[in-house]
Amino acid sequence: MKITIERPRCIGCGSCSALCPNYFELDQAGLSHFLGSKAEPQETDELVTDDLGCVQEAIDACPVQCIKVVI
Ligand code: SF4
Repeated sequence: MKITIERPRCIGCGSCSALCPNYFELDQAGLSHFLGSKAEPQETDELVTDDLGCVQEAIDACPVQCIKVVI
């Protein structure tokens, strides 16, 4: 499955990185991206994984609903 973060919609609240730090972190612009990603602020970041782990918690906590799972 693929997880996406619509970075232009992220408000940098930090909930995803606090709840699920092995997937999400805030970049230098204060926007969420996947660990080690080089995505630009205007880009949607994508990660393909078989293990959702704590991602659902991050999805549920995101106040602007910009994290999605694409099956
Ligand atoms: S929870 Fe949503 S708004 Fe908050 S930092 Fe993560 S992606 Fe951005």
